[in-house]
Amino acid sequence: MQPDALGRPLRNLRISVTDRCNLRCGYCMPEEEYVWLPREDILSFEEVARLVEVFEDLGVDKVRLTGGEPLLRKDLDRLVRMLGSAGRLRDLALTTNGVLLAEQVSALRTAGLHRVTVSLDTMRPERFKALTRRDAHARVLEGIAAVHALGWPGLKIDTVVIRGINDDELADLIEYGRSVGGEVRFIEYMDVGGATTWSMDQVVSRREILAILERRYGAIEPLAEAGSAPADRFRLADGTIFGVISSTTQPFCHACDRSRLTADGKWYLCLYATRGTDLGRALRAGASRDDLARLVAATWRQRADRGAEQRLALGARRPLVQIGELKRDPHLEMHTRGG
Ligand code: SF4
Repeated sequence: MQPDALGRPLRNLRISVTDRCNLRCGYCMPEEEYVWLPREDILSFEEVARLVEVFEDLGVDKVRLTGGEPLLRKDLDRLVRMLGSAGRLRDLALTTNGVLLAEQVSALRTAGLHRVTVSLDTMRPERFKALTRRDAHARVLEGIAAVHALGWPGLKIDTVVIRGINDDELADLIEYGRSVGGEVRFIEYMDVGGATTWSMDQVVSRREILAILERRYGAIEPLAEAGSAPADRFRLADGTIFGVISSTTQPFCHACDRSRLTADGKWYLCLYATRGTDLGRALRAGASRDDLARLVAATWRQRADRGAEQRLALGARRPLVQIGELKRDPHLEMHTRGG
């Protein structure tokens, strides 16, 4: 398949399997009430697998299951098995908040999931409760411990760093990651849909993150790596590796090979895109594998999205989408789109 208008191939598909979440993190779901996708619109696992086949035909070999919280989707291991069994994916990963991980970890691994990323923003239970409005810190740590106990490689721990909230815990998280064999990735706070309380002064930049860690650990060595992975990786003097995802201050749109499918089958070419292509509806209207492949290929060919770079160029920034718009179209929410 041809690359997009900026020469970027399509390799990477993030699939949100549900817009529901069992946490209420302030940077993603700060509101009291949400408009959910209609249940009847949510794609079945069979429908998801049919769409994934189309993407694989066109060159996608990396799939990440996201949400909302993907482990809220009943029998997710069945979808993992369906996607993995064709053997066409080089990477089949899951991003979870970890709350339900301990009870599902064995089934997911047996089903063929390659690796797990767990979101964890703090090591302090009380802070977790304040941040997520749920008392589930211990369960998240149990989930991570369960991955570690299996000796399952590839564990990553994703931390959104917010000034005045958890920027005093970077070293604690590095130490914790080391103790459970997980690579910590610090993510700059982003102004995507759903982040209605975002402001630039809360963003702890990559430069600041590195400076904080350098004060604690001494010289930090950047790893020279080519590719489209969002994280830049670094090594501490003792060999510990960590990553920084600097989407806000140093975006990487020029190398972005990923797109996103919502639980109801809308396909978005950028985290910041306001409109998607309704592959779910096309599928349910009887489109064949070839029809869908033509639609996907033609849409990708025209893609010129570079949302984070455009946001950076704006200078003065405020939240991307206001609450009223989010209520009118929940697809604009990060928890619907799979951040
Ligand atoms: S902002 Fe859009 S184009 Fe840029 S890296 Fe994110 S998803 Fe890709």
